[in-house]
Amino acid sequence: MVRSYDAVIVGSGPNGLAAAVTLAEHGKTVHVVEAADEIGGGCRTAELTLPGFHHDVCSTVLPFGTVSPFFTAFNNTAGAGVELVFSDAPLAHPLDDGEAVLLERSVDATAANLGVDGRRYRRILGPIAGHASQLTEQILGPLRAPRHPVVMGAFGVPALMPATAFARVAYRGERARALFAGMAGHSMMSLNRPASASIGLVLNMVAHSAGWPVARGGTATLAAALAARLAELGGTVETGRRVSSLADLPSSRVHVFDVVPRDLERICADALPARYRSRLRRYRHGPGVFKLDWALDGPVPWRDPRCGRAATVHVGGSFGDIVASESAVAAGRHPDRPLVILAQASLFDATRAPSGQHTLWGYCHVPNGSRRDMTATIEAQIERFAPGFRDRIIGRHAMDSAALEAHNANIVGGDINGGMFSLGRLFARPALRISPYTTPNPRIFICSAATPPGGGVHGMCGWWAGQAALRSLAHR
Ligand SMILES: Cc1cc2nc3c(=O)[nH]c(=O)nc-3n(C[C@H](O)[C@H](O)[C@H](O)COP(=O)(O)OP(=O)(O)OC[C@H]3O[C@@H](n4cnc5c(N)ncnc54)[C@H](O)[C@@H]3O)c2cc1C
Repeated sequence: MVRSYDAVIVGSGPNGLAAAVTLAEHGKTVHVVEAADEIGGGCRTAELTLPGFHHDVCSTVLPFGTVSPFFTAFNNTAGAGVELVFSDAPLAHPLDDGEAVLLERSVDATAANLGVDGRRYRRILGPIAGHASQLTEQILGPLRAPRHPVVMGAFGVPALMPATAFARVAYRGERARALFAGMAGHSMMSLNRPASASIGLVLNMVAHSAGWPVARGGTATLAAALAARLAELGGTVETGRRVSSLADLPSSRVHVFDVVPRDLERICADALPARYRSRLRRYRHGPGVFKLDWALDGPVPWRDPRCGRAATVHVGGSFGDIVASESAVAAGRHPDRPLVILAQASLFDATRAPSGQHTLWGYCHVPNGSRRDMTATIEAQIERFAPGFRDRIIGRHAMDSAALEAHNANIVGGDINGGMFSLGRLFARPALRISPYTTPNPRIFICSAATPPGGGVHGMCGWWAGQAALRSLAHR
């Protein structure tokens, strides 16, 4: 039977599912079409190494899981079913002198292990963390008039700086500068570029205001909870069906695409005007990642055992090492000593591995489209701060940028953020429009991480796109 829907969503990543739930909660009939055999996009969990070891294939740490307005509302829905697990400290950053820097939940406790910079850290992070809810509400969306201009102005000035300039102006010592460089490294741009400080400051703020949790059982549980809510509201999901043209889709009043601009252009073709299509074709992707998952027969043997208090560990060494590593990637080179972002979820979530054994998740940045095997380089970096690490490995699974893109077409050339991060692209993604979720065709919307606020599991691109689609449905 041919059925017509109010909205068809292409792609079941967190943003596609957030758009679907948002529309269904307003009484719309919704159908989701997903290319992979499993829902979730960047929120999937699998036994990648050995039976009984559950690895998050893409996202694992969920800093926006509790602060995103979409997830805050969703988590309050009866029976939402996602349990977030918080490590004692959100982040550890080991250093060569053997004493790691711990980013604690409290600003004061963090300041206490920053030596000469303790007072400065308290002065900078105290007010930012104190206004976290106003700031996240503003940051997690498109460009719009600030509701709290003074708070936003005080945050915006340092946020627009290059991370290197901010770290040098704000701090005097190696410990605070290295800690900040590791967080700013998530911008996946040279830390000498304007606005590279912004990601570091946002992650730093969220660590204090909400923590950096993982989902018990893996991030797939988040996708499953969203799909369950959609089903409860009468929405349907179809997997194993790649959409390559509008003709592949069932009849619907609006289409919402959780795809990258390149694929939106190909799929919608003449349904979009030539000028907009040419802007989609010019959309740029950022560096890629090389991803590793390990099965271990014990926890990582950190030289500083306090690293075991944190689910996330930034393995990159000094401020200078991290700046050099991110500059190399931005210039199209593979760093010899990369910033490795690690998550040791099984220390806090026993469902991830058999008793006494552990999973470990990690990646480093590489040039977009890189096919280089970074396994030895990454493991050498971990061994630098955890001698004996290699002896604990009993299983390993690697994904270069091509493998990641084969897993999910949105990870173009290994770019995990849905597009290059830059000052110009902060809010004008994928193209400069009053509502970037709309297209010149009033029936076509985009909700992927290629729209503001960009990469990460927050569902906010989907929520905003859902609002735009609801407005269009109300008018037609
Ligand atoms: C290795 C890696 C590690 C990451 N780590 C973290 C982390 O720890 N924390 C965090 O917050 N974020 C992390 N991210 C980023 C996060 O996963 C993404 O930003 C997020 O998943 C984006 O959500 P999305 O809904 O926009 O797209 P995606 O999650 O990429 O989902 C898009 C979906 O659309 C489907 N699709 C695409 N094209 C078509 C088509 N033509 N037809 C049908 N279906 C289609 C895909 O198969 C996919 O299921 C990571 C990403 C990667 C790859």
